[in-house]
Amino acid sequence: MQTLSTEQRRFFEQAVSTYQRDLAGDTSAQGYLAARGFGPAVASTYRLGVVRTPLPGHEQYRHRLAIPYLTPAGVVNLRFRCAEAHDCDGHAKYLSLPDAASNLFNVLDLKKTSPFICVTEGELDAMTLSMCGLPAVGIPGVSTWQKWFSRCLEDFDVIYAFGDGDDAGGKLNSFLAKEARARPISMPRGMDVNTLYLEGGADALERLID
Ligand SMILES: [Zn+2]
Repeated sequence: MQTLSTEQRRFFEQAVSTYQRDLAGDTSAQGYLAARGFGPAVASTYRLGVVRTPLPGHEQYRHRLAIPYLTPAGVVNLRFRCAEAHDCDGHAKYLSLPDAASNLFNVLDLKKTSPFICVTEGELDAMTLSMCGLPAVGIPGVSTWQKWFSRCLEDFDVIYAFGDGDDAGGKLNSFLAKEARARPISMPRGMDVNTLYLEGGADALERLID
């Protein structure tokens, strides 16, 4: 595990505040989020932003969504997602900071009173479950998994793996079953947490774990 210096924490905090302000004045980015079910209240809860006025070193993230990793001790990481409605041909959908540590996303949900926790691939799917009342953490991908993540989850009776409804999602679910005794969720083919939510609301997600 990496320990952040006071200076790094301050920089993260400043970045997140700046990009939240950028989002407040950006109807296009607000529209992108709204189309995924993330209204202003959710954006505020997760302190989402958009990079319009990049801090030094963040120039390459301009126009991207800024997704902070919030913890009880403040912001510990940031990832940047393309905010265009396309398939991201020729560029990465997500960018991480060059020297970033691997963190679980949305660890604040680990403190919620719940017999279960959900694990997703990706921050937006974790936020989607969480805002539907299903506590969730996210990982950026199998390759970023750290052994100690499973220890963060071990107090829950059940851990649900919410991989996407495709081959990669199936692999993620098998991986989490092995690494964290997770119970794989059968996501409909071609869907993910967010698209299923947009189609069927919170009920459609709850039905998957019944
Ligand atoms: Zn793109």
